[in-house]
Amino acid sequence: MPEGDTIHKLAAAIRPRLAGITIRRARVRPQPSGTFRHRRASTALAAHSVLQESELVGHCVDSVYAQGKHLFFGFDHGVLVRSHLGMYGDWHRYRPDEPWKKPDWQVSLALWTDHDVFVCFNAKEVELLANATIRHANFCNRLGPDLLSRQVDLGLAIRRAHELHDCGAPLADVLLDQRVASGIGNVYKSEVLFLEGQHPLRTLDETPETTLQRLFRCAGALLQRNLGGGPRVTRFVADGRGALWVYGRPGRACFQCGARIQAGRLGRDLRATYWCPACQDK
Ligand SMILES: [Zn+2]
Repeated sequence: MPEGDTIHKLAAAIRPRLAGITIRRARVRPQPSGTFRHRRASTALAAHSVLQESELVGHCVDSVYAQGKHLFFGFDHGVLVRSHLGMYGDWHRYRPDEPWKKPDWQVSLALWTDHDVFVCFNAKEVELLANATIRHANFCNRLGPDLLSRQVDLGLAIRRAHELHDCGAPLADVLLDQRVASGIGNVYKSEVLFLEGQHPLRTLDETPETTLQRLFRCAGALLQRNLGGGPRVTRFVADGRGALWVYGRPGRACFQCGARIQAGRLGRDLRATYWCPACQDK
């Protein structure tokens, strides 16, 4: 499941092969690949995607970067392409003559250069933004501070948490809200709450500001440590027993205390959540 670190790694991997390169052919399909659950979102996005793929052909990519869980390609004529992988999306790189590993109908975005084809399958959102400066600025204003940026404003994240959520909102929801702070996905949500000893259903008004700061700082450090490549790790203990503390371990013994890890679908969107009933006191 792609989280903030995945997208930063993607940007770093794609940038050397795409920045400064001219696009020879493009395909943009704003709709996700037939999953009903995303249909409403895609309809809304399609309305924004007034540009056609022909707008990209013959133009040069001048930037590739991540902001939270969004990947952006900036073009030399001001057009910006934004993509969000959601739960099911991924990027592949192929040689121009190489067959693709997924069917055509799953393609959300494809960019051909003279040497490579970058194909994004099953994205949750793909959008072409006509005026990079204004639309992009508006978009970034909707996102909370990127936990992977060098000087992250945690005060702003905490203010946004209180502005955007009522005091009874569970931490499980607050941490996932990209408008509060961007980068934390569902895996890090559970892991960060475990590492800081906070129950996922603890509410915002039960959580002191210093604890919120610790949660965001912990998430930022984990995202940073996972930029290097390889499988996602939050448990840096070389005993071969697992790379994650609680995520995906329902019913198994907590590495810290031996209690059985609990699992449930919690929060507004009923996202899978894992926690230790002993280490994470409610
Ligand atoms: Zn425990």
